[in-house]
Amino acid sequence: MSKRGHGLGDLGRVFSTQGGELCPHCERPKAGCVCAREAEAQRVAKDGPVRVGRETKGRKGAGVTVVTDLALADADLRALAKELKRRCGSGGTLRDGVIELQGEHRDQVVALLEERGFDVKRVGG
Ligand SMILES: [Zn+2]
Repeated sequence: MSKRGHGLGDLGRVFSTQGGELCPHCERPKAGCVCAREAEAQRVAKDGPVRVGRETKGRKGAGVTVVTDLALADADLRALAKELKRRCGSGGTLRDGVIELQGEHRDQVVALLEERGFDVKRVGG
């Protein structure tokens, strides 16, 4: 079964190296690719709660805490990811507008985001 969620449908696609330098999405040379900027613009325009969930499938131990639907520009996202990692004392990654933190940190993440005035929705079990 394939699950197609919410604008993330292209994430799993394997890019062909054939034709090398063109972006597979906008078909511009990589140097002139506008996808990241467009993704950022779309993300920032988003309205609705930030979702804080947990993913354990295929992960070791407590899995990862996943923060999605953050309506922030790239620079702000990076700053927030850094702060969350520090607050949780944990490693993490920022990819395609999604912050992942190693381990279960939903309580801290929700608390920090609420302090910052975000509308936060805790998802999953
Ligand atoms: Zn592109």
